[in-house]
Amino acid sequence: MANYRHSPDTCECVYDFDVLDGEAFPVLVGVVAKCGPHSSVPDDQLNAVLKDEQFRKNYSIQQEVRPHFPELLPDSEAALPVAEEAIAQFARQSGEPTMGWSFDASRVLLLSLPKPVSATVKAMLQALLDARWPGRVLLL
Ligand SMILES: [Zn+2]
Repeated sequence: MANYRHSPDTCECVYDFDVLDGEAFPVLVGVVAKCGPHSSVPDDQLNAVLKDEQFRKNYSIQQEVRPHFPELLPDSEAALPVAEEAIAQFARQSGEPTMGWSFDASRVLLLSLPKPVSATVKAMLQALLDARWPGRVLLL
């Protein structure tokens, strides 16, 4: 057994994982605490819900949006508000794109782009996101 305790960067749930023989990915073996937004998610569905949110966030930023801002990365966050500066600082250290993100009460992912873009570009990016996650990722 190689249990380890984890909390995703997308919410404050806490759970234990175990790396099982023959499994490529760690398996959730116990829910320690659920955050407010996930308090009503059954334990046996929590792993899938958290994976969806993590994947939706990471893929939206890294695969859909980031390629359209190559000239900005990684030092593009000069005008970010204070709360997003903390995210940007983490992003710089981890090599992730410098974008703000959060989830609303319905767990819709809200993304703020690293710089203002034209309505045409924004609509194009939103359409890319809508094609994969209709109504689940919103550009601010
Ligand atoms: Zn949670």
